[in-house]
Amino acid sequence: MDGRRSLTSRRRAALVLLGATTALTACTSAVSGHGSPVPSASSSRPAPSTSASSTPPGPPSTPAAIACPTAYAAPDPNRPRMSLDFVIAPGHRTVRGTEHISFTPDRPITELVFRLTANTAPTVAEGNRIVVTAARADHGAKAYRFSRANAAPSTQGGLLRIPFGASVPAGTTVTADLAFTLTLGTDSFDRFGQAGPYAYFASAQPLLSWQRGFGWHAEDLINFPAESATSEAMAVDLAVRAPAADTVIMSGDPAVPPAGGTMRRWVSHLASARDVSVAAGPFQVADVNVGSTRLRVGAPTVGLRDALVPEFERALRELSARFGPFPFPSLSVARLPAQGGGIEYPSSILMLDGSRLVAVHETAHQWFYGMVGDSQALHPWLDEAFAEYAEQLVDRDAPADDALNAPGPVDASTESYGHDVDRYYFTTYNKGAAALNAARAVAGPAKWDAALRCYVAANAWRIVVPADFARAIAAFPGAITILREAGALR
Ligand SMILES: [Zn+2]
Repeated sequence: MDGRRSLTSRRRAALVLLGATTALTACTSAVSGHGSPVPSASSSRPAPSTSASSTPPGPPSTPAAIACPTAYAAPDPNRPRMSLDFVIAPGHRTVRGTEHISFTPDRPITELVFRLTANTAPTVAEGNRIVVTAARADHGAKAYRFSRANAAPSTQGGLLRIPFGASVPAGTTVTADLAFTLTLGTDSFDRFGQAGPYAYFASAQPLLSWQRGFGWHAEDLINFPAESATSEAMAVDLAVRAPAADTVIMSGDPAVPPAGGTMRRWVSHLASARDVSVAAGPFQVADVNVGSTRLRVGAPTVGLRDALVPEFERALRELSARFGPFPFPSLSVARLPAQGGGIEYPSSILMLDGSRLVAVHETAHQWFYGMVGDSQALHPWLDEAFAEYAEQLVDRDAPADDALNAPGPVDASTESYGHDVDRYYFTTYNKGAAALNAARAVAGPAKWDAALRCYVAANAWRIVVPADFARAIAAFPGAITILREAGALR
């Protein structure tokens, strides 16, 4: 997410100044492949497969003992499966949803836990909320309940829990079926909203809050509308029924359904995605192929659309050259008639801003969060600092001079910032990116970039922790020192 454009004008001015100080020593040529050796991913996880998507090999450049994967690690074959069905009511204020989950935990469980992001207090203050109307699971589950988890008091709560009668052994497949109603507020800068004939919503379904090797993430909802969820990559079937006049811009690459009737049903499948976003309305749409990636951009006007298309073509090309092939077959971008920044989702982006910087930042999240997942609650820098770092490299948007001296460790939980969204942004994004840039300069840009590509490939479709990144850059002790001093690594 990049919500800094939605902050106060005073804060915006400060951030503009910070972003315009010095020119960055950016790498001008992309690393060509994944030939460099890197340490493998965490030993608690299976070794990366080399049979996934293709990536051209490149020259080895980092001295480490274990070979760099030649392609992205494959998704876990036992990943959860989620079927989502949304119905957007005429008027675009109400969405009914159903969710079917099939889930095989890697450790015993006594309950299912789902995160209700729409009930975050500032999100509810804008008129949004989710109400769960039904929830059932097999294996002896009889009822469901809610935990407050810092949700707005007027809501059911922040976490939906479905307890089982007894412990369910690891390796057992459990299924659950949920029904819910989403209410959308007006013109909010958030992942939920309604503006005129447009509706947009993301993390709208109760989100299965599991992490392999960790268990349930039951952290409180936070006090500002940033990300704080953790979810495994899942196989997702997504269907959206919307008023017939609408075009739906959503995760995956839905074919345009035939005209006729008062509602049309848009359908996509994502082989591996942690979450989804949906936007519906009378969008002006452009479809462009960028390499092997299908790019769809929708905006309220042709002018806004045509301004954004080249920015995303550029972002896709430059970031693919830098980090590896785009993680998804398609990228769908919805420019919304609301103001703010941008919000990333797997294979999709909600844009509340038309700027080049936001386009690059949110596209970079397709690698960092979309494919290489992290706990957005516990280690948000593992996606936000990397997206900011990528933005700075691509756009020569220099790190703030004083960002490295900002108080507090880069690796801090989102919740730890309380209500201080400015400090969250400055430490997580700006200080984190400045530390990565300084580490790159010390390591040597070419070797560092190669190691980063290996890190991405080895950790594709997993949830990383800071130690995974530390292992990936173990060959650069000077860089490790910088990141430790910034509190990014322990
Ligand atoms: Zn971001």
